[in-house]
Amino acid sequence: MSHLSTEALVLSTLRLGEADKLITFFTLTRGKIAGVAKGARRFKNRFGAALEPFTQCHLVAFEKTQNKLVRINQVDILHSFQKLRDDWDTIELGTQMARLVLRMTPEEQPHPAIYHLLQEALAFLETGLDRSLSFILFMVKLIEECGFQPQWTICSGGTGHGGGTTFSHREGGILCDRCATRDAASVGISADALQFLQTVSAADFRSGHSQSPSILVKREVETLLRDYITYMIGSKKRGRW
Ligand SMILES: [Zn+2]
Repeated sequence: MSHLSTEALVLSTLRLGEADKLITFFTLTRGKIAGVAKGARRFKNRFGAALEPFTQCHLVAFEKTQNKLVRINQVDILHSFQKLRDDWDTIELGTQMARLVLRMTPEEQPHPAIYHLLQEALAFLETGLDRSLSFILFMVKLIEECGFQPQWTICSGGTGHGGGTTFSHREGGILCDRCATRDAASVGISADALQFLQTVSAADFRSGHSQSPSILVKREVETLLRDYITYMIGSKKRGRW
């Protein structure tokens, strides 16, 4: 049995039997792990509010050999993200962020950049002004971190053509007019949406917030990114994870 001590964010919680909870964390040093919190559903339990969704905590757990689930021993709250859980809109967006990390990351592979991205994005949801922009920027950066970075600047037809008027999920990037016929499923992309995506791809999550895209551009980009992620993770429900 080995000992695990790390910072973590709670991605999901599930009732387990009469008194226990199954928690999935994204940890700083070990990536995504799941564990059992014994007695967590009892009225007075040692975990208190530390196992609520989104909570940033310090986690101490024990790993058993030949068992993927760790045994959660101690959880201390670093930041509760309580304000985020007080509002239905932020609950919805935060839940979708957590679900995306759940779906797009492998078990037990450290990825500190994703840990910090999720933490920063939840903080922006909690206090930020433009939550839909924060959610879009989170998708852009998570896609990049997971290795699915689309080609936004030149045609991805492999011909060296510049520019693009459609986006191909299959080719993972824009296609010019000449190459668009290669993928009948490619979808139109406006010049404004493309310009926005080029700009925020070159920026980090935080500085991407200096952009102020119109509602129409945000709507277009959000739909495009949701559909691209759905395609990449092979989900059957369009835009849902
Ligand atoms: Zn082309």
